[in-house]
Amino acid sequence: VQETTAKDAKDTPPKRSVALTHADRIYWPEAGVTKAGLADYYLEVWPLMAPFIVHRPLALLRCPEGISGSCFFQKHAWRGMRKEIRQVDDPKESGDEHYVAIEDLDGLLGLVQGGVLEIHPWGSTLDAWEKPDMVNMDLDPGPDVSWERVIEAACEVRERFGDIGLTGFVKTSGGKGLHVVAPLKPKTEWPEVKAAMKAVAEAMAADSPESYVATVSKAKRKGKILIDYLRNGRGATAVAPYSTRAREGAAVSMPLAWEELTPAIGPAHFTVNNATARLSQLSADPWKDFRAAEAVLKPVKPARRR
Ligand code: ATP
Ligand code: MN
Ligand code: MN
Repeated sequence: VQETTAKDAKDTPPKRSVALTHADRIYWPEAGVTKAGLADYYLEVWPLMAPFIVHRPLALLRCPEGISGSCFFQKHAWRGMRKEIRQVDDPKESGDEHYVAIEDLDGLLGLVQGGVLEIHPWGSTLDAWEKPDMVNMDLDPGPDVSWERVIEAACEVRERFGDIGLTGFVKTSGGKGLHVVAPLKPKTEWPEVKAAMKAVAEAMAADSPESYVATVSKAKRKGKILIDYLRNGRGATAVAPYSTRAREGAAVSMPLAWEELTPAIGPAHFTVNNATARLSQLSADPWKDFRAAEAVLKPVKPARRR
């Protein structure tokens, strides 16, 4: 896991050796993004994105004909998968199904070749399947929620994360909401991590019932934001930083600095088409301190003092 800045990413173009077939196949018709265009985008963000997608189980949204064709969300290896994509086995599962992982840029380009338009990693690595090294609080606005209120919710998650010793980093989802992600030292197992995220979500809903809900069954409630903590269970996934979305406009899930989080930047503001301009304007990776900020999750209920 390397630390990089946006500048490093420009100075050291990574190598690319996976040949794409049908490189001019159109993946996002309205945005005019082809398979080759997607590969070029990933080449550019690779140094920043790699720590979030390398050496982890991956779930994938594949749309071999682009977003106008059929898409399928898959957690397992497929027939005809490029050899640059690894097959890995869940230590807790026996069976014929293999999970998918990548270790390098060629792996990512193998995914592009396979029509993968969204990459959804686990929050734990292959070195410690049971112990997540990050959490993701997914903020899902219901109907009639203003973007300002989604921003407020993200700021509140950040504060509440701070209360339990976590440092929150924000990204657009590329869809409708925001994600607040925090790095963990991989020391705590999934059930305890999920319980801590549930406690944060429920506390927000209890303190501001007019604004927040923490249960999916109430999620469609008009005017409320679902604090979706369920991305933090074993086997659950969330879209990776810098991943594209299989939605119109070729939006990406873009890491932001907290100062950038203003009403001017909506959830699908950043796209494959404007990412290059964004990255070249940045003086540093907005998440450059991500790994340095990793923390051990404090127990939900501080039962005893040391
Ligand atoms: P938005 O901002 O629009 O909510 P999002 O990425 O947060 O974008 P959600 O619907 O909130 O989308 O989250 C869905 C999550 O559930 C995805 O991140 C994905 O990892 C996971 N998931 C599980 N099963 C599926 C599926 N069949 N299709 C899509 N996502 C799935
Ligand atoms: Mn969401
Ligand atoms: Mn959600």
